[in-house]
Amino acid sequence: MEVAPELVQERGKASFPPSTLTQLVDGGVAKMARRRWLRSLILSDPIFNNEDSIYLNHTERYKRALAKCGRLDQLINKYRLNEEDSIVLRSCTSEDLPTLLHDLMFLPCLLSLCSEEQQAYWVPAARSKKVLGCYAQTELGHGSNIQALQTTATFDPATDEFIMDTPTAQAYKWWPGTLGRTANTAMVIARLLLPQESSSSSPASYKDMGIHNFIVPLRDLHTHALLPGVVTRDIGPKIAFAGMDNGCLELHAVRIPRANLAQRFVRVTRQGVWSRVEGTHSKAAYVTMMQVRAIIVVHSARELSKACTIAIRYSAVRRQGFDDSKTGSELQILDYASQQYRLLPLLAASVGFFFCGRAVLTLLAETEDALLKGRKGQAEVGALMGRAHAALAGLKSLCTTIAADGIEECRKCCGGHGYLACSGLPELSGNFLQQCTVEGDNVLLTQQTVGYLLKSYIKWRTGGPVLDEECQYFVTAADGAHAEGLGEGEKGVRDEPAVLSLFSRRAFATLERLALRLQSLTEGEASLSQAGAWRRVLVDVMFVSRSHALYTVLRHFAAGLKSLRDGNDVSGVGKAGADAAFIRVLERLFFLFAFYHLSKEAGDFLELGLLSPETVARVRGEVEILLGEVRPDAVALCDGWDWDDFELKSALGRWDGRYAEALLASAKKEPLNHQDPVDGWDRTWQPQWKVEEQTERARL
Ligand SMILES: Cc1cc2nc3c(=O)[nH]c(=O)nc-3n(C[C@H](O)[C@H](O)[C@H](O)COP(=O)(O)OP(=O)(O)OC[C@H]3O[C@@H](n4cnc5c(N)ncnc54)[C@H](O)[C@@H]3O)c2cc1C
Repeated sequence: MEVAPELVQERGKASFPPSTLTQLVDGGVAKMARRRWLRSLILSDPIFNNEDSIYLNHTERYKRALAKCGRLDQLINKYRLNEEDSIVLRSCTSEDLPTLLHDLMFLPCLLSLCSEEQQAYWVPAARSKKVLGCYAQTELGHGSNIQALQTTATFDPATDEFIMDTPTAQAYKWWPGTLGRTANTAMVIARLLLPQESSSSSPASYKDMGIHNFIVPLRDLHTHALLPGVVTRDIGPKIAFAGMDNGCLELHAVRIPRANLAQRFVRVTRQGVWSRVEGTHSKAAYVTMMQVRAIIVVHSARELSKACTIAIRYSAVRRQGFDDSKTGSELQILDYASQQYRLLPLLAASVGFFFCGRAVLTLLAETEDALLKGRKGQAEVGALMGRAHAALAGLKSLCTTIAADGIEECRKCCGGHGYLACSGLPELSGNFLQQCTVEGDNVLLTQQTVGYLLKSYIKWRTGGPVLDEECQYFVTAADGAHAEGLGEGEKGVRDEPAVLSLFSRRAFATLERLALRLQSLTEGEASLSQAGAWRRVLVDVMFVSRSHALYTVLRHFAAGLKSLRDGNDVSGVGKAGADAAFIRVLERLFFLFAFYHLSKEAGDFLELGLLSPETVARVRGEVEILLGEVRPDAVALCDGWDWDDFELKSALGRWDGRYAEALLASAKKEPLNHQDPVDGWDRTWQPQWKVEEQTERARL
């Protein structure tokens, strides 16, 4: 189909070639070519066709997705794809695959939590998919508070086994993806109970050693039948994520060998004695969780960019309303400032989150290296873990909140058509929403970040050691008197260092205010306990975390721009002189992202005395100017993310902009239209007037 003239025009006026952005997000020309080749394998195989997905129910989606998993495996084997390629290949399916948790959690858990001896058996078995795993932590009664989990693993010295039990309905595992129907094995998080010395007169008693990880076989590897004592179910339809079998698990006296306790960091001897493996760090078990949080930050950028692509392309071709002349064609809705204000800062956010995702992956790699390869001392590893944990918690919370709200905003920006499943936006939104809850509820995560920030703040205020990179800004922010105010220098308000300084001072000031509040709540006569005071200030905690994370995103965004300007970006972008125009576009996005949030949260800056009302007004004006400047490049920026129509699954966001034809084609596929009148129309519903008419006819 011919491309809509509006999109031809939009593409014609872009100031940079979209492939430059593609090269940046892919990490270089070679990686870009490789990803496109992998995608071509998916696009050319009919089994991955997703055109009628929206008409399928949960069971049908699951079965279809299972078949896709099988073909993916064949492709991975046929082309001997490595781990990195396999991940890319799977993501190109744009499908919620039932094996997701095997790849995302189970296998990484084996690699990070199991001893070398254990890995020698489990890892090849998992890689070959003989063992298909899931990660079973959450229970019906407990999610966020994992210390209160009720599943037990009781050591039986007589048989050298653990007896796994979910003693009450509250203890049933509830939610784990891949668990319901797919997994034959689970990494189960359970309380370890070790027998205490007992005399013949007193009954056996057990010591609760807290939560540990256990590899629990669920199904026969050959027949896939459930093993004795194991019950699993799918927990039913969800908002979206229909291809995934989120499940529940009952364990009734299921026996597993002692060797199935994940043993990289802890051991239980034949006699039932617990010990920590020497040289390991107590928080090491959290490494998989951090890996997943980092992936979620990267995912936020990508999914938000998909929604922006759909809504912005649609806004370029959708015409609604006349200008003053009331003649000629109607206006493109993308030309309304309100539409730009709703969409373009989200596009900017997707790019900011990309840089942020790249930075957290680097931080994570550094942490894993130190932790798993034992290259650094305990204290240093502990510090790195704390830093990475705090950074990831706050960023996961902020990025997923903005992306989830942003995807929904993109849907609303498409008007009524955005409410159609074939717009692709309801599924995109529904699938993404879970990211605000999984791997730590977003609100709870803010507490983890702020807990770390407060500790660092107090240590530093009391003359403690040098701050790490996450908190380095305390030093300059506290010394705010010397910072150049926004708009005071030659560059006006578009001054990167001044913007960063301002956001860092806001983050610091909110943190300091919180520290003082906590102190006053716990001191004096009517003082509260530490926990009581903490509960009282939880609203402030959310804002402190948000302020810190927003500054962190901007810091990584600015660092990314610098690497492009310096010509040393890993993607190779920035080396060619022609990339200068592209960098200018990204700089505008940086300021748009910063000023959009600054003007939305202006109250904070004013209250803290960091900005005058005049500067706030200036910043608001600058947002309007930036929207106008980004507008001509909006479609090219979307194109640069390089989503194929197959991946977008949207009648509104198509490359060719032919949304009317696509909507019509989609309506024609609706099964309800396949018979007219609908089969059984007369039998199903006999309205009173018809009954009376028939009675009357019979009477005559
Ligand atoms: C699609 C999906 C997939 C999932 N996949 C898996 C999986 O593979 N494996 C797995 O083990 N689990 C999985 N989960 C479960 C997920 O990890 C939990 O839902 C999550 O940890 C939140 O726990 P909860 O649902 O019990 O909420 P709760 O902990 O009950 O939280 C409910 C509300 O209370 C608030 N709250 C709770 N405690 C506090 C507090 N201390 N301070 C302030 N506010 C508080 C929270 O902010 C939240 O708003 C999945 C969930 C979903 C939705």
